[in-house]
Amino acid sequence: MTELYHLSITEAGELLRQKKISSVELTQAHLERIRAVEPKVKAFTLVTDELALEQAREADKRFARGENLHPLTGIPLAIKDVIATKGIATTCGSRMLENFKPPFDATVMEKLHDAGIVMVGKTNMDEFAMGSSTEHSAFFPTKNPWDLDRAPGGSSGGSAAAVAAGMAMGSYGSDTGGSIRQPASLCNLVGLKPTYGRVSRFGLVAFASSLDQIGPFARNARDAALLLQAIAGHDERDATSSPQSVQDYTGALTGDLKGMRIGVPEEYWVEGTQPGVVSAVKANIERLRELGAEISPVSLPHTKYGVAAYYIIAPAEASANLSRYDGVKYGFSYRDTSEMWEAMEKTREYGFGPEVKRRIMLGTYALSAGYYDAYYKQAEKVRTLITQDFSRAFEQFDALVSPASPTVAFKLGEISDPYQMYLQDVFTIPANLAGICGVSIPGGFSEGLPVGLQLLGNVFKEDTLLKIASAFEAVTDYHKQWPAEL
Ligand code: GLN
Repeated sequence: MTELYHLSITEAGELLRQKKISSVELTQAHLERIRAVEPKVKAFTLVTDELALEQAREADKRFARGENLHPLTGIPLAIKDVIATKGIATTCGSRMLENFKPPFDATVMEKLHDAGIVMVGKTNMDEFAMGSSTEHSAFFPTKNPWDLDRAPGGSSGGSAAAVAAGMAMGSYGSDTGGSIRQPASLCNLVGLKPTYGRVSRFGLVAFASSLDQIGPFARNARDAALLLQAIAGHDERDATSSPQSVQDYTGALTGDLKGMRIGVPEEYWVEGTQPGVVSAVKANIERLRELGAEISPVSLPHTKYGVAAYYIIAPAEASANLSRYDGVKYGFSYRDTSEMWEAMEKTREYGFGPEVKRRIMLGTYALSAGYYDAYYKQAEKVRTLITQDFSRAFEQFDALVSPASPTVAFKLGEISDPYQMYLQDVFTIPANLAGICGVSIPGGFSEGLPVGLQLLGNVFKEDTLLKIASAFEAVTDYHKQWPAEL
């Protein structure tokens, strides 16, 4: 029997409008699902069940009044714990913010509340969004619903696992170097990183400000379009948000790929990519060709420097952003001393986990006098070269296609070397460096585990990516697969 939690947002929205179900029923079905499977999956840092039911009752009142409602009204969604929620703990997966309740909502949350969503909870993540497995959460690791011994990816692993396990109909995460696309790939979801500046970062706890973007996780392209539409747009409170008008994302889902030019970056077939991933992605590329797309190879010659440049730039920005956690302004504070410097030192020693400390040290080193030119400046030059690679490619192509992650979901504890973990993002990082948009969509299975297909688009071409994604879904059923009963 199809359970309510199996519905897509689009399907549930129709049933709500026809008054065949209520938002309270839909929400209760998700809260029950959370009670049943969350003890195994551990996707949430906080389940906001009372708030969810209150919001659901409010949504039902609006439906009863017959108001002209938003497509997300009454829809149960989960929010990564890096997005500020007024009066509700926003931990960032860190001891440092374990008891932090923001006095304001992120712009994205304001928009979602105006739309009338139901928030079922805040989701687990790698501490301060640093990681690719959710194992760097200070609280507990999240499990992949497709295999509970494996990681869901990260850093937005909780948001991905919640949707893959049917605990939320969609969710939001943040992507600085791949943290939406890689977990989407490992959990069989659509995960979209918008163009830099498309979505407000106001109230998104900063990791690397020139790279961070909030974006959606969904079970299909149409749902992803609805979730993106709800949060996109200019915001006066984020000086880097773009005034460019927002496209009609659902309107772009025409399903026709005739004449669409899609490039396959030669440099993205790197050693270390699992053969099962390579063969699934190659088969997907053939599918796109059959759908009428013109496929040809393209070169992005500076790809191989992407990871190195990212691991200078992101930690450099992080080291500056995280200097605010000094035990005075926010969160955890070491009080067992009357010495100010000792209090700050101990606050940071106990408040931050090992990966965060590693990044702060890397970043501080790269920015220090004498090393700035050798590291940070070089990395910024590489960033420009990577951006130019993409600009040239998008003169010839509407989109690019590649694997989203070099591997399927790996076992929890399997990757202990930080550098090996950093390589998880080899295909996703260049898009953040260049500020372009990207999406991972369900692209089949290897040894029973999901493989993600990455589509990259030029700035503000989210509509093109969603159009390709929906055309691909029309001829595949990967996105309809559910993990075996948990
Ligand atoms: N895995 C990458 C990192 O650890 C990207 C994280 C992210 O996108 N937030 O930095």
